[in-house]
Amino acid sequence: MAEHWVCATCGVQHGVSASPPARCAICEDERQYVGLAGQAWTSAAALREKHRNVFHEVAPGVWSIHTEPAFGIGQRAYLIQTGEGNLLWDSLTLTDGESLQRVRELGGVRAIAVSHPHYYSAMVDWSDGFGGVPIYLHEDDREWAVRVYSAIHWWSGEERELFGGLGLVRSGGHFAGYQVAHWAAGDGVLFAGDQPQVCMDGRWVTFMYSYPNWIPFSAAQVRRITGSLAGLRFERMYGAFGRNLLSDAKAIVARSEERYLRAIEG
Ligand SMILES: [Zn+2]
Ligand SMILES: [Zn+2]
Repeated sequence: MAEHWVCATCGVQHGVSASPPARCAICEDERQYVGLAGQAWTSAAALREKHRNVFHEVAPGVWSIHTEPAFGIGQRAYLIQTGEGNLLWDSLTLTDGESLQRVRELGGVRAIAVSHPHYYSAMVDWSDGFGGVPIYLHEDDREWAVRVYSAIHWWSGEERELFGGLGLVRSGGHFAGYQVAHWAAGDGVLFAGDQPQVCMDGRWVTFMYSYPNWIPFSAAQVRRITGSLAGLRFERMYGAFGRNLLSDAKAIVARSEERYLRAIEG
């Protein structure tokens, strides 16, 4: 049966085909991996049988959404509620009627933005579920969009204003088109995805070209990433794995950059 096959390792949904694709380009790239058991595929319908999405309000107007049991890379998405509509930040592979209904009750989705290709997941299905709302991605990652879709808006340059105090900033680094979302509400909030990545103790962040393969950045690359955040005001930072910085986030990023540069420069 024709199907939008889903890579079981990265969770990215592919273009329609009768049988599973031969390979997943995202997992064959050195920033991801094909598991020891080889390339495996699943489907949206199969996922719905065994998984569900869980919602948590992590701050007023900020809902984290993740899939249980965890699937693929295991990232969180966020629904950010502004007075001018909601942004779905990053995305999940599982879409089901219950999740869409829950998001509808929380005000629906005006637009979607995804930090980088590892989280492209089923962003197209999420957009479809809300009438084909635009998906904002940076054009430098265009080659990684393995499911073509008319509502994807490829933006270029360094910054893209959205609505409700939200905007996108291209950081590069992990992917050429890597983007973060900044929300000017209150003291400022950064939605970072996995760059910077909040460390296990919740007091530091780090930066990696590849997390699964432990490939670090050069000093110049780290400075390019932190430089992209320099003009942003943010007290809080939300990451992709449930580890967040709830105060002093910008200073934590600065001291973490120094630590990282000490480690790689000796
Ligand atoms: Zn994959
Ligand atoms: Zn990634």
